Amino acid sequence: MVLNPSSSEVYDLAIVGAGPAGAMAAYAAAKRGLKVILLDAKEFPRDKVCGDAIPYETYKLLQRLEPEWEKELLLHSSNQLIRRARIHTPNGKNITVQWSLKAVNSARYDFDHWLLQKVLQSNLIETNFNFRLKEIEKEGNGWLLSSSSDQIKSKWLVGAGGAHCPVARQLSNKRTDRTHHCGALRAYFENIAGLNPIVNEVYVLKEFVPGYLWIFPLPNGCANVGFGMLSSEIVKREIDLKQAFEKALASKELKSRFQNATRKSKVMGFDLPLGSKTPIISGEGYYLAGDAASLIDPLDGHGIGAAMWSGYEAVQRIADVLLDGKSESRAAREYYKELDGRFYKKFRLHRKMLYFSSLSFLLNAISIPYLMRIAGFNTVSDTE
Ligand SMILES: Cc1cc2nc3c(=O)[nH]c(=O)nc-3n(C[C@H](O)[C@H](O)[C@H](O)COP(=O)(O)OP(=O)(O)OC[C@H]3O[C@@H](n4cnc5c(N)ncnc54)[C@H](O)[C@@H]3O)c2cc1C
Repeated sequence: MVLNPSSSEVYDLAIVGAGPAGAMAAYAAAKRGLKVILLDAKEFPRDKVCGDAIPYETYKLLQRLEPEWEKELLLHSSNQLIRRARIHTPNGKNITVQWSLKAVNSARYDFDHWLLQKVLQSNLIETNFNFRLKEIEKEGNGWLLSSSSDQIKSKWLVGAGGAHCPVARQLSNKRTDRTHHCGALRAYFENIAGLNPIVNEVYVLKEFVPGYLWIFPLPNGCANVGFGMLSSEIVKREIDLKQAFEKALASKELKSRFQNATRKSKVMGFDLPLGSKTPIISGEGYYLAGDAASLIDPLDGHGIGAAMWSGYEAVQRIADVLLDGKSESRAAREYYKELDGRFYKKFRLHRKMLYFSSLSFLLNAISIPYLMRIAGFNTVSDTE
C-alpha cells in the first residue's frame, strides 16, 4: 500500500483504541510529556457491548490520579450507588454479596465518552477517530500504521483496541483460546418487575452452569440484562447464545419479572478474553493493554478497571524507556510484574473458582458465600 502520511510528524507514541485502556494510556502520555496520538476506528460517543458495571479498580485508580473525576463519576449517579449484588443460586436460594466501596453502573456509551472528554481536557493529545488500523509495518526504529486512507508514524505503539485488537493479532499473534474466553450478549430493558435500582442481580440457572444471566440497574428504570458463558462450553454443548438468553428470560425463575418488560435495544454480543491465561503483553516497540492483553476477570467478567490500570501502566514503562533511558527488557519485566501482581494472579485463582462452580451440585447456598469470601466480598446468605 502506498499512501502519503497525513503529516511527516513522527509521534513518540500512537495508541490504538480510545476505550478505557486507550483513554488512560493517553492520559499518562500527556502527563509524562510524550508526543502522542490517540486513534480509534469510531467517533465518540460510541456504543460498547458490556454489562455496564463500573468495577472498583476504576474508583481506586481515579482516587489516586484524579480524585475530582472520581467524585464527579459518583455524583452523577448518586441516587444509584450500587453496594450489593444478589445471586440467585440454582437451588433457588438468594445470597447477597456486599462491598464497602462506592460503585455505580453506567452505560458504556456515556462512561467511555465521559472518561475520554476528561482525558482530552489537557489539549496535549492529538486524536484521529476515523482511523481503523489495518496494517502495521516496522519502519526504522518505529512503526508505520495504515488505515485505508491514512498513515501515521510513531516510535512506540500501545494496542488498546479491545478483544480484536489488530496490534495484538498482528504483533503478538494473539488467537482465541476458548478455555480462557467467554461469549456474552446484552440488551437494555425497562419495566422489569421487582427491579431494585441499587442492587445488581445474577441468576445462576441450573441449565446454563457455568454461565449466568445478569440484571444490572441503570438510571430511569432501565437495566442492562445479559447472559454469558465460557466459550469452550458454548462449543461443546452447541449452545446458541441468543436462544439460551431468550430461554433464560422465559424460565420459571425470571418469567414473571419480564412479562411486562419492554426491550429497548437489540440483543448484541461480544467476546471476553479472560485473564486466566496471560498472553504476550509486550514486545519490541509495543505494549498491549485492556482486552488486548486479556485483562478480564473470569469470575465476574469485569475488565474496565484493569483496562484503565494497564493503559496507564503501559505508558509509564514507555516513558521510562524514552525519557529516562531505562532498558526495554527491564521496563517490559516491570509491566508484567505489575499486571501479574495486581490482576493475572487473581484471575487464575478466580478461574479455579469458576471450575468449582461448573460442578453444579457444589453451587449452592453454602459454596457461593465461601467462594465469594475468597474473592474478597462480604456475603450475607438468604437475604430478602
Ligand atoms: C457482554 C459483555 C459484558 C461485560 N460486562 C462488563 C461489566 O459489567 N463490567 C466490566 O468492568 N467489564 C465488562 N466487560 C468487559 C469490558 O467491556 C472490557 O473489559 C473493556 O471494554 C475493555 O476496555 P478496552 O479499552 O480494552 O477495550 P474497548 O472498550 O473494547 O475499546 C477498544 C476500542 O478500540 C477501537 N478499535 C478496535 N479495533 C480498532 C482498529 N482496527 N483501529 C482503530 N480502533 C479500533 C474500538 O472502536 C474501541 O473504541 C464486558 C464485556 C462484554 C463483552
